[in-house]
Amino acid sequence: MLKSLTEQEIKSFLESNSLYSPAVFSPKTQLTKIDTPQLDLLCTKCKIFRPFNSDSPKPVKYPPITPLLSPGHRHPELEFGLTYCSFTCVTCNECQYKFMINVTKNEATLKIEKVGQYPKFKLQRNKYIEKFSGKDIDYYEKAIACEANGYGIAAFAYFRRILESNIETLLEMINDEATATGQPSTVVDALNELKKDSPMSSKIEIANNALPPHLLINGINPLGKLYKVLSEGVHKTPDEQCLELAHQIKDCLQYLLAELSDRKTNRVSYAARLGKL
Ligand SMILES: [Zn+2]
Repeated sequence: MLKSLTEQEIKSFLESNSLYSPAVFSPKTQLTKIDTPQLDLLCTKCKIFRPFNSDSPKPVKYPPITPLLSPGHRHPELEFGLTYCSFTCVTCNECQYKFMINVTKNEATLKIEKVGQYPKFKLQRNKYIEKFSGKDIDYYEKAIACEANGYGIAAFAYFRRILESNIETLLEMINDEATATGQPSTVVDALNELKKDSPMSSKIEIANNALPPHLLINGINPLGKLYKVLSEGVHKTPDEQCLELAHQIKDCLQYLLAELSDRKTNRVSYAARLGKL
C-alpha cells in the first residue's frame, strides 16, 4: 500500500535540508503535493524564529511534474519534475521564503531535493557547543558550514574531532552532575572506567551505564550513542550516512551540554539563595 509523505516530513525537509541534500523515501511513498500549512523559520525582518504560513493552499507546479522521456518512451515508474512553494512570516507579513524543489522517483527511491531557495538560511550556532568546543571553535564553524551544505563526510569529521578532543570535559560535567545528585557508585565507576584506555567496543557498553538515568531521553542514552558514533569507521560510509552521523553528534551534544550546564547553573543559584536565608 502506498504511504503518503506526512506534513511533518515535508516540514522537516523544508526547514532543515540544505540545497542539493535530498530527502530519500521508499518508492512506495505517494507524493501528491509538497506543501505544509506552516514552517518555523528565522524571520529576516523580525530577527527571531516565527511561524511562516504557506502562501498557497495548493503548491504551484512549475512546470507541472513531467516525464523524463518523451511520452512515447516514458518509463511507467518514472515521475519527476520541479515544484515551487513559498511561505510568509505571520507577524511582519513581509519576510518570505521561496523554495524550488525537484522530485525524482524510480523503482528504488523517491527523492525530494531543494534546487533553489531564497533567502538562504543563516547558520545557527549552538551556544553550548560553541563553549564546549574551546580551542576547537574553528572546527565547529567548519562543521556547521559543511552540515548546512550537505557535505556529510567533512561535517562528520569536524564534529567527531570536536567530540574526541573534548570528551574529558563532557565526562567531568557528567561526573559533577552524578556527584551533586547522589548517583550510585556504579555510575561513578563507569565514568572513571571511560577515562581509561580501552577498546572502543567496550567503551560503548560502559557509556551506556555511565549516565544518570534522569538524563536518558525516552530510555535512549545519548552518551552511549556518542561513543557508538565515535566507533564508526567511515572509510566506505556514504556521504548521506556521514551527514546523519554528524546530526547525531550535534543533537546528542546539544542535549547533554544544555541539560548539564543548566542544571549546574540552577544548583549554584539555588544554593546561593539558600545561603541568604
Ligand atoms: Zn517577520
